[in-house]
Amino acid sequence: MNPKEKIRELVEKLNRYSYEYYVQDNPSISDQEYDRLYRELELLEQEYPEYILKNSPTQRVGDVVLDHLEKVTHDKPMLSLANAFSESELKDFHERIQRAGFNPEYTAELKIDGISLSLKYRNGILIQGATRGNGEVGENITANVKTIKTVPKFIKKNIDIEVRGEVYMRRDVFECHNKERTKNGEEPFKNPRNAAGGSLRQLDPKITAARELDFFAFSIVDPETYGIMNQFDALKFMEQLGFEVNPHYQHFKKIDEVLAYLDYWKDERHNLNYETDGVVIKVNDFKMQEEIGYTVKSPKWAIAYKFPAQEVETKLLDIVYTVGRTGTINPNAVLEPVMIGGSLVQRATLNNEDFIKERDIRIGDYVIVRKAGEIIPEVVSVNFEKRTNSEPFKMIENCPACGEKIYKNDNEAAYYCQNPDCEGIRLAGIIYFASSAGMDIEGLGEKVVEDLKRRGFINSIADIYRLKDKKDELVQIEGMGEKSVSNLLSAIEKSKENNFSQVLAALGIRLVGGKVAKTLSKHYSSFSELMEASIEELTSIKDIGLQTATNIVNYFKNNKNLIEELKNLGINPTVEKVETQNILSGKTFVLTGKLPTLTREEATLLIEKYGGNTSSSVSKKTDYVLAGEDAGSKLRKAQELNLKIISEEDLKNLIGE
Ligand code: NAD
Repeated sequence: MNPKEKIRELVEKLNRYSYEYYVQDNPSISDQEYDRLYRELELLEQEYPEYILKNSPTQRVGDVVLDHLEKVTHDKPMLSLANAFSESELKDFHERIQRAGFNPEYTAELKIDGISLSLKYRNGILIQGATRGNGEVGENITANVKTIKTVPKFIKKNIDIEVRGEVYMRRDVFECHNKERTKNGEEPFKNPRNAAGGSLRQLDPKITAARELDFFAFSIVDPETYGIMNQFDALKFMEQLGFEVNPHYQHFKKIDEVLAYLDYWKDERHNLNYETDGVVIKVNDFKMQEEIGYTVKSPKWAIAYKFPAQEVETKLLDIVYTVGRTGTINPNAVLEPVMIGGSLVQRATLNNEDFIKERDIRIGDYVIVRKAGEIIPEVVSVNFEKRTNSEPFKMIENCPACGEKIYKNDNEAAYYCQNPDCEGIRLAGIIYFASSAGMDIEGLGEKVVEDLKRRGFINSIADIYRLKDKKDELVQIEGMGEKSVSNLLSAIEKSKENNFSQVLAALGIRLVGGKVAKTLSKHYSSFSELMEASIEELTSIKDIGLQTATNIVNYFKNNKNLIEELKNLGINPTVEKVETQNILSGKTFVLTGKLPTLTREEATLLIEKYGGNTSSSVSKKTDYVLAGEDAGSKLRKAQELNLKIISEEDLKNLIGE
């Protein structure tokens, strides 16, 4: 391919990946892979500048501005950062600055892997929050930003100021949301950065609020206005104003000291509760920064040193197969144990047959394993130089659990076992039933289920509820003991209280995750009712498609006895039909001030939905005054009349939302 064509191809590819990344918050390749292609394009463009395309990602800041949000033109552009992928590239950066006649000192800050945010304050009050967008124009997300607890709504000085920083999702929050999303049958977030991006650009601030984002401030626009002359002091100043500034920033006089800082954080960053993908090194002095200047895309006085990818070479000892609860046959790599990013990795996913064949992965190979934000390690490629095995990979033909022949649909990558009595499927079903996505039974994890099944204690989900009669035998099992058995049995008993939708989701019916189960529980109040439903009736429900309906009907046809057994064992949840709609009937509300997440219109609609009405003036007839921030005379009058004053949260509690 000639360079012109190659450049065009790379631009198209990178732009498509950027769209997936910035707009859909759902990247299909890793950041390392993106950076590799980007670097390839940069080098080609340097060699053939006559072929540089206007829409090249090297010529502009990446994010796309979404149409559905109001636009904001930035007073000063919000730029990206140039990257350094090795210490020698960082030294090149330093030498470039020296050659231009400067003798810089630096600040080094952790590069928080989140989303850029601009915050404007007037007289010390937050008036606007905006995304970076294309650098010139961003999106107005003020309402969403106000739901972030670590974004101060007021700062400690009554000044006008624009502060910029990074919105991010903490690791524990990310894990918690993904657990919940999996439980609800929703697609988990790929990584905390994409989760933060998607959460920030919501039309409904309530969704943003529920995502529990955080914010670190890292720069001030026009800092000289406040008498601040360097980045180190700017960070200190922002702390004084009440912003959270990442505490690990440091001032260095020499580039070698920066290298030691990088070396320290390369491993230490894994102990933080937020993701960092590098260190940002900035010339400390603001006057010097301005003299050094900018490219179209980034300042020349700063660089983002990216930590090396968490990739390690290790030996592929074996390929083993597990059977999923829907019968999928999943190949997994058994690896010579190796440390990646602070944890010991012994297994990695190999996804499916196509994945293995495309990469020509063979048992005995030395493979490159990567642990990305997505937590589950993956085999990326093979070191062919060290290959000794001449035998290409061949997919198994029979189910590893029951021996039945496995099959594959033309349009799918996965193989399936179709044997309804397959022990592997049964085991996976029990594991799923007890897991946090199902009945959430503490102490009944994968290993314990496997062990109990192997020892003949459980062979179906119903057997879980018969364990209480086998207490004496259970305590004999090595490693169980009196205390853990009694904890396990009480967790099992407690799970009987789970509501209908949770039990329904736990059954593991194909396509019936938490969300579908919730929908079903709004139309059917018990197993008996649901089991009577026809495919036609089910498909008339919004969000229930033909395939889902067929799966439900078939499941109950084949599992009548199991459901009966569960009922007899005390698992027979029913949905109480409460007349929620008229909870606020006859009640008059007056709204005043700014509510934390709801707009006036949304709050009014909510009150009306539950049978209440709203009025614009406070009188003795008012039942509730719903008051938010900056409530004025109406609140005072309500206090004089001794009326019930409630917050948005109180309203939500009233209606049980
Ligand atoms: P970037 O994220 O690499 O760096 C610039 C950003 O860093 C700034 O805008 C700022 O928000 C942030 N930052 C964090 N801490 C900071 C600090 N202390 N000081 C200053 N800035 C700080 O650049 P980008 O332009 O936002 O994104 C490009 C990167 O995104 C690529 O290098 C790639 O890794 C990734 N990407 C991946 C895909 C994909 O498909 N996987 C697609 C597009 C982009």
